[in-house]
Amino acid sequence: MKPRAILFDMDGVVVDSMRFHASAWMQVLGEYGIAMEDIDIYLREGMSGRQSVEDIFREYGRPVPDEARFNELVARKHAIFERNRITLFPCMGEILDHVKTGGLWAALVTGSMRRSVDHVMEGSFLSLFNAVITAEDVSHGKPDPEPYARALEKLGVDPSDALAIENAPMGIRSARGAGVTCYAIETTLPRRYLKEADEIFADHCSLLQHLMSGRMLMGRAR
Ligand SMILES: [Mg+2]
Repeated sequence: MKPRAILFDMDGVVVDSMRFHASAWMQVLGEYGIAMEDIDIYLREGMSGRQSVEDIFREYGRPVPDEARFNELVARKHAIFERNRITLFPCMGEILDHVKTGGLWAALVTGSMRRSVDHVMEGSFLSLFNAVITAEDVSHGKPDPEPYARALEKLGVDPSDALAIENAPMGIRSARGAGVTCYAIETTLPRRYLKEADEIFADHCSLLQHLMSGRMLMGRAR
């Protein structure tokens, strides 16, 4: 396969942000007496904030917060999360360099709100993407195929000419549902949760190596 476009999920794929999302959620939910673990957050990645909160409160047998409470809770979570400086994963910069020098299109396909995208992606990195799809751009988020379908439409690329990179089960389902080959990276979850992906990589450096050796990305490996 020789893709014309690579569609990147953001959290847990481009940036090493999921552990900070998880600890912010754990702190806020802890104030409601809900003791969660990282994996509870990682497995829900892709759900909207509203959906995850409802899902978690139900699972823990708590009354689901009303609109005002929910907004308060999300605002607290954002404030805690935004105290962290978020960085790219090792080898991610090289992957993006090769995508650009190889003349491939790049898209960012995230379930996060635009506010979070602006916080975690430095302007210089964000400008590398030819299309950016956030929660505000779709009516149905992942695992629905809409986010990936919308990115393909914006780029004018067929699903068979694209490759998606994901780290969460709902993201994989979304990409595959849009007809896109999907590779997964074990950044937050071990491979047993990522089995719906076409290929699974332990980290970004092994993904980079695979893309270069399959000549999906051109140029010289550093
Ligand atoms: Mg992700």
